[in-house]
Amino acid sequence: MTPEDTQAFEARIRAYVGREMGPPRRGHDDVNHAMIRHWAEVTGDGNPLYTDEKFARASGRKGIIAPPTMLAIWAMEGYPMAFAQSGSGNAQRELHNVFEEHGYTGVLGTNTITEFYRELQPGDQVTAHTVIDSISDRKKTGRGVGYFIETVTKFTDQHGEPVGRQVFRTLRFAPNAEALAASGGAPAGEAAPLEVPTRIQSPRGHDNAWWWEAIDQGKLLIQRCKGCGTLRHPPRPMCGNCQSLEWDSVESSLEGEVYSYTEVSYPKFPGYPSPLLCGLIQLREGTRLVANIVGCDPADVRIGMKVKGRVERVDAKTVLPNFYPA
Ligand code: ZN
Repeated sequence: MTPEDTQAFEARIRAYVGREMGPPRRGHDDVNHAMIRHWAEVTGDGNPLYTDEKFARASGRKGIIAPPTMLAIWAMEGYPMAFAQSGSGNAQRELHNVFEEHGYTGVLGTNTITEFYRELQPGDQVTAHTVIDSISDRKKTGRGVGYFIETVTKFTDQHGEPVGRQVFRTLRFAPNAEALAASGGAPAGEAAPLEVPTRIQSPRGHDNAWWWEAIDQGKLLIQRCKGCGTLRHPPRPMCGNCQSLEWDSVESSLEGEVYSYTEVSYPKFPGYPSPLLCGLIQLREGTRLVANIVGCDPADVRIGMKVKGRVERVDAKTVLPNFYPA
């Protein structure tokens, strides 16, 4: 991309500043007891104002209130949002498509600022009005070169009165050297190499660190119950068959077949290849594990296909078992 192309690109993205992201979004459900109770349960918030009518009345309120942190929840579009058609009048989606076309495929939520104007109670109806408020200059960040996008959402109630406001800031960035080249190279005067993104680090705890440490050594182990010999994966402390806490492990032959699979096509994650095939591999030993299927066209993968694993380095920080057509 030439400097002129970059200018044209920036003119295109800046045309979105000040635009409504789409029509106001009215929540599917009014503020209600069930969602409040679920929220309080999952967040472990034991404040009785959210669940105890008597307590809430004694505090001078009309009844229970919703936790303020639920403000944005009441107007969320839910799961179908992920499948919204591109260019269907949603300016935010259109804007993100423009970024993607130019190699800025990485996206990172960086921070939010929320203001609350009044407590919400069951029966309230919340509508969100979101505007693309600003787009920063081109910045170099630890994740890559990109732009910060700030949206401002105003929340109103059933009377049209404001009940809160939220500023949401995301970074749109070019996650690797290839995308960077497509976007015109590093900004002038920036010669330092960019960090190459790596995969999400494996979660290692008391019960599974041994498994990952073996992977680092090039071995795929399967946990085996010392009481009854049952194999199990993923690693866990107790045998589901005989409840024994005693275990050792056997090394897998890495031979198996595709039990099921899916192709992750959107969004693209920095540090991950594309196409990205996630397989559920039925190992010859009898257990299954989730691993990437590599070395073939996604269209050629079939359930039941014989595969052979290799424990190999996939980036500077990560070793994983990959499965190839046998
Ligand atoms: Zn057992």
